[in-house]
Amino acid sequence: MKKLTALLLTIIFYFNVNGLEQSLAQAPSHGPRVLVVMAHPDDESTFSVALYKIAKEQHGIVDLFVITNGEAGYKYSTLAETYYGVNLTVEKTGRANLPAIRKKELSNAGRILGVNQYYFANQLDAHYTLDEKEPLDTSWNTQAIKKQLNQVLLNNHYDFVFTLLPETTTHGQHKAATLIALGAIAALPIANRPIILGAATLNKIAPVAHFTQYAQYPLTKTVSDTALFSIDRNASFSYKNRINYKVIANWEIAEHKSQGLTQMSMNDGDLEEFWYFAINGEAGISKSKAFFNALANTPYVSKIYTERKPVYSKLNYMVSLSFTTGDLTAGNSCL
Ligand SMILES: [Zn+2]
Repeated sequence: MKKLTALLLTIIFYFNVNGLEQSLAQAPSHGPRVLVVMAHPDDESTFSVALYKIAKEQHGIVDLFVITNGEAGYKYSTLAETYYGVNLTVEKTGRANLPAIRKKELSNAGRILGVNQYYFANQLDAHYTLDEKEPLDTSWNTQAIKKQLNQVLLNNHYDFVFTLLPETTTHGQHKAATLIALGAIAALPIANRPIILGAATLNKIAPVAHFTQYAQYPLTKTVSDTALFSIDRNASFSYKNRINYKVIANWEIAEHKSQGLTQMSMNDGDLEEFWYFAINGEAGISKSKAFFNALANTPYVSKIYTERKPVYSKLNYMVSLSFTTGDLTAGNSCL
């Protein structure tokens, strides 16, 4: 009888849990809809807290459009070799195994952030370069990426597209990804265009970052040379305000275990700063302001707990010690 009851409870639990998952998956989202266009599986770390807040706190949609599978990231996989049991720092082995590993790592990171959908363009991650022309004109099938991205944009009606700020010093593939995203949005009818932003992670003690345009690409022109919006990873909450969003940023980074250098950026970066590209037109600034004002909210009510006397004191610890050792004399001397 007990076995039958347990079986029934298990069945009821199973259907409840699955029913809940199904209803959550089908629940329509009324929050902001955001697409990230990125070159590598870990570039989302730049704005991990913004993405978390959009998906988990604002109940919006976060999708990722990932151009390469990051197989050129084998050089710093030293500690991940033992973790995965694969000689990842050997170029041939690394390039063969990293695409699957990095997709899985991205999916683990995405589970923390609340990512809804992944779109992989499966392009070649050739090597590190500062030159955006190398991926755009050589190693990537740029036309195929543009076509796929255009379809994703048309199908999903995003409010915002996040990209990495195409600074001169950043990876050429990051710059190329942003240029493709800007081009894809510029090609859409004005009424269908999401607002596109370029982001960088910065520390509060660092000098103010300036960006107005990258090289001879007018599409990268911004409306101001400093960031218009930012997310503060140090915004604190919870009991005695002891916790902040760096916890989320670190959880997210930790999932990219094959990327040793990315792991070293834990705790680094206080602000996720966003520049507003001029192709958006001035009209989108107020919508962006409202969006970032909502994201500035920390929806965790600080709880108050009644302070209690500690369960263990030196006195009762020594008494219990004297009883367990049978040394009553020692116990008495403590008393
Ligand atoms: Zn990258």
